[in-house]
Amino acid sequence: MNKGMVYLIGAGPGDIRLITLKGLDCIKKADVIVYDRLANPRLLSYAKTDAKFIYVGKSPERHTLTQDEINNVLVEEASKGLVVARLKGGDPFVFGRGGEEAEVLLKEGIPFEIVPGITSAIAVPAYAGIPVTHRDYTSTFTVITGNEDPTKEDSNIDWERLGKDPGTLIFLMGVGNLPKIIEQLIAHGKDSKTPIALVRWGTRPEQEVVSGTLENIVDEVNRRGLKSPAVIIVGQVVNLRERLKWFEKKPLFGKRVLVTRSREQASVLSEKIEELGGEAWEFPTIAIEEPIDPKPLEDAIKNAANFDWIIFTSVNGVNAFFDVMKKLKIDIRRLANVNFCAIGPKTKEAIEAKGIMVEFIPEIFQAEAIIEGLKDFLKPGQKVLLPRADLARPILVESLKALKMNVHEVIAYRTVKNAADSQELLEKLKNKEIHVITFTSASTVRNFVDALGSNNVDELLGGVTIACIGPITAQTARKLGLAVDITAEKYTIEGLVESLVNYFNR
Ligand code: SAH
Repeated sequence: MNKGMVYLIGAGPGDIRLITLKGLDCIKKADVIVYDRLANPRLLSYAKTDAKFIYVGKSPERHTLTQDEINNVLVEEASKGLVVARLKGGDPFVFGRGGEEAEVLLKEGIPFEIVPGITSAIAVPAYAGIPVTHRDYTSTFTVITGNEDPTKEDSNIDWERLGKDPGTLIFLMGVGNLPKIIEQLIAHGKDSKTPIALVRWGTRPEQEVVSGTLENIVDEVNRRGLKSPAVIIVGQVVNLRERLKWFEKKPLFGKRVLVTRSREQASVLSEKIEELGGEAWEFPTIAIEEPIDPKPLEDAIKNAANFDWIIFTSVNGVNAFFDVMKKLKIDIRRLANVNFCAIGPKTKEAIEAKGIMVEFIPEIFQAEAIIEGLKDFLKPGQKVLLPRADLARPILVESLKALKMNVHEVIAYRTVKNAADSQELLEKLKNKEIHVITFTSASTVRNFVDALGSNNVDELLGGVTIACIGPITAQTARKLGLAVDITAEKYTIEGLVESLVNYFNR
């Protein structure tokens, strides 16, 4: 039988975009993904839909798996002939026990590959504005485990050498042993005024930095209650942070933002959030599906040339329309004499991406405003095709009819509730790890509230900032008992993001 394959992958320190292209490729093709606490679980959203996830880290319900147990999981899954992605925080060969896992695989005759990752030893200081080397201060850096009791007799660590080393010292897993580490360094000759910093949860919204000197850092860490995981950096380069810190200055730094749109549409919003230093967490509450009966849309498309106008109210509508055109092998030139209207800039972009220029786009991106502007363009009696969602508000059709237009509505797609597993979301909300929730339509609000089930909404959402794309969405949210903090002034994704930035940087 096929022996399967194991990829030992470095997932980077937390910011999911710090994974390598090769690492991401492996995630996408894996049948099984084995991960632990330091690998960002958001990477799992790139997996195949039927991939199996195995968590081997600490969790409230279960004890951490031992290394032997983890090795067994890898061997067992690969022996079924499956492709296994073993995700590890940082780099798999830097204190990641990747070497041991590779040895076991070798012994079992299971093929494996190592996909190096960006280690926290370098990236976490970098996100705190600390370069591990710098021509003016140091030409070397040493990465040391802080896990080993520094006072034990037969230590593998040459404290003698470290005490004298003028280079940067970087300790991983050292928070628990911090007092002993410092004691050893000073005992072996380090100046007690040497700068030191601890960076907890580097590259993530929770990033927290405590700095000082060897002399005062323990008190400072105790005062701030800083816990693991953190990278400890010792050396003159630490002082550069004051000038070079950059991540914490980003406008959405520290915010984990829930994105509730459909999987297909989420990335536009997620990317913007992350550009601004926030972390997007996608929880699609809606999914886009084909109409139950495809015939009305197909018929409308076959007759599309007979319409004077086609009005699109969403990108989904545009995509559905042109997908069907292609399926029916109808040439786009058939639409030569039809005028196009888009309700918003993204919809306009989507139409224009098909090579069709849009005649009209309203100034305010809402059904009500379309009519105001369209009045000047439409002549009574003209034929208007409106490919729309199944749940669209009737206002646009009613107003078009009031203008004596000959309106033909057709369902182009359905927005259905996405049956996502809300377990992880609830967990995150309970732990207050979600700071902002964005809603981009009334149905995202409704489905989100549904997903909370019988849990206490006030408790779960206490302290969380609620942001809505526009007044209709905000109205729905309020009706369902949510306290809306932000309503975008421009009813677009850009407008929503702009309002978020303004809100947090007032
Ligand atoms: N293979 C990993 C290291 C695993 S050892 C790597 O290359 O990064 C685990 C230690 O890594 C933690 O105790 C902590 O010291 C450090 N670490 C990993 N991710 C971190 C993060 N996001 N912020 C701070 N420290 C981190």
